Amino acid sequence: MSKEHSGQKPWEGLQMPLEEKLYRVRYEVDPDHPHIKVNQEICSRCGDRVCTFICPAGVYVESPGQPGHIQVRHENCLECGTCRVACTCEGITWDYPNGGMGVRYRFG
Ligand code: SF4
Ligand code: SF4
Repeated sequence: MSKEHSGQKPWEGLQMPLEEKLYRVRYEVDPDHPHIKVNQEICSRCGDRVCTFICPAGVYVESPGQPGHIQVRHENCLECGTCRVACTCEGITWDYPNGGMGVRYRFG
């Protein structure tokens, strides 16, 4: 059933909080093979910490009370590739998750 027929207008999703949007995708978490790693030494010297605001899924968070230490919530990753371009300090090592793991989008 299309969104119009279901009563939801196409633009209504724009008003949703991030957590609700992320609830609409599914992830297969691969705890033994996190596909994102950060170099904490590089991050501690990074001035703008662009990863903490450029990622649409909020994967990168500066640890509270530990300035410069970046937590990575890799299980939320949408695999859009934005952070790979945005981090110009080479602080991120990013690889695709193993086959069958990672994000799975639901349509309709
Ligand atoms: S991951 Fe890149 S942008 Fe983010 S804090 Fe580390 S060096 Fe800076
Ligand atoms: S690939 Fe996209 S969703 Fe995943 S961590 Fe990078 S910016 Fe965030």
